[in-house]
Amino acid sequence: MAFNDETRKVFAEEIQRIKDDGLYKEKRFICSEQGAEIVVEYPEGAPRRKVLNFCANNYLGLSSHPEVIKAAHEGLDSRGYGMSSVRFICGTQDIHRELQDKMSAFLGMEDTLLFPSCMDANSGVFEAILGQNDVIIADRLIHASLVDGIRLCSAEYDTFKHMNMKHLEKKLELHQDKRTRLVVTDGVFSMDGDLAPLDEMVALCDKYDAMLLVDDSHATGFIGKTGRGTHEHFGVMDGVDVITTTFGKGLGGASGGCVSGRRELVELCRQKARPYLFSNSLAPPIVSASIKVIDLISRSTERRDKLEWNTNYFRGKMEKIGLNIRPGETPIVPVMLYNAKLANDMARDMYAEGIYVIGFFFPVVPAGKARIRVQLSAAHEREHIDKCVEAFGKVGEKYGILGLSKEEIIARYGT
Ligand SMILES: *Cc1c(COP(=O)(O)O)cnc(C)c1O
Repeated sequence: MAFNDETRKVFAEEIQRIKDDGLYKEKRFICSEQGAEIVVEYPEGAPRRKVLNFCANNYLGLSSHPEVIKAAHEGLDSRGYGMSSVRFICGTQDIHRELQDKMSAFLGMEDTLLFPSCMDANSGVFEAILGQNDVIIADRLIHASLVDGIRLCSAEYDTFKHMNMKHLEKKLELHQDKRTRLVVTDGVFSMDGDLAPLDEMVALCDKYDAMLLVDDSHATGFIGKTGRGTHEHFGVMDGVDVITTTFGKGLGGASGGCVSGRRELVELCRQKARPYLFSNSLAPPIVSASIKVIDLISRSTERRDKLEWNTNYFRGKMEKIGLNIRPGETPIVPVMLYNAKLANDMARDMYAEGIYVIGFFFPVVPAGKARIRVQLSAAHEREHIDKCVEAFGKVGEKYGILGLSKEEIIARYGT
């Protein structure tokens, strides 16, 4: 089918329908470095303005930290710009080894393998370690990149209801005939901010002879008393067999990911994982800066402590003004609005108040569960948070939703 005028019209009509429904994702351009305060061009072509960013994964405020930037420069100067190779040919430098060793120590694991991204780590890990006689039993809300990786693997795929341990136990019983059972979960679920109950999951895996893989992308660096992640939070550092995580969120926010875990599992990934074999090595400036990040957060918990304080402060104030936030303890704070257009409209009004947040709706979250997802950062100061809550109060009042229950919001706006 040629892309003729008729085809163009078909696509244009679908785009118009998205706009008519109030669900259009507009372009926004950031014209500064990433941080608590950013300079934004939005709508496209409008004058730039300074706003407060409350939707980055910059949990530890390290994306533009002077020491991290300096380390990136040093990596650039001493090891060059790019590797022009995959890891196993001529793409592994001494600094790649150093970062892997530091990650193993930080996460409390035996070995670590770097990937170009956590999406790549998740794409490669399952096929490398499992085969036809095995089964993967995953939480139903795991991240899309885990689902994609599982699809590439010949093991049987089964699921359990979100964080439902009774259901997981049933599935573990059901699959006792398999060679290997691998239970898969996110440590922190990115849309709801829920913590997977890893203590219970480890106990079940012990009881039913299963391995456990945790994607800790939204936890590494700040969940747990010293920021090691969800396994530290639940006191089960020895019970998790494989962790996948990203350098693209709390750990500086550039890019890169890893598989970290039992030595033989990581070694199999080194031999077989396709993104490791077929995609280019992480660039030296990123490796060098990531090493600095691990050094900084190993030395002091100051940043994760400040993030925790900010999170509690924000959650407390938002509950007080009567917005419907999902309870929890992570810096992911969903402001539940249920209706997609309401989420989009409120996000636009928040921008007018100088707060950069985004509405999330289907297919990013289940239909009828639209929200504005707020993410706290150690880069936020108390007055930033005060300003954000004040804006939510003003915009929430405009839409008449302050103090309303879920049912009342849905009665008024639908889903
Ligand atoms: C962001 C995210 C990823 C992808 O990480 P990248 O390094 O950006 O590819 C994978 N898993 C989870 C749970 C994530 O939140």
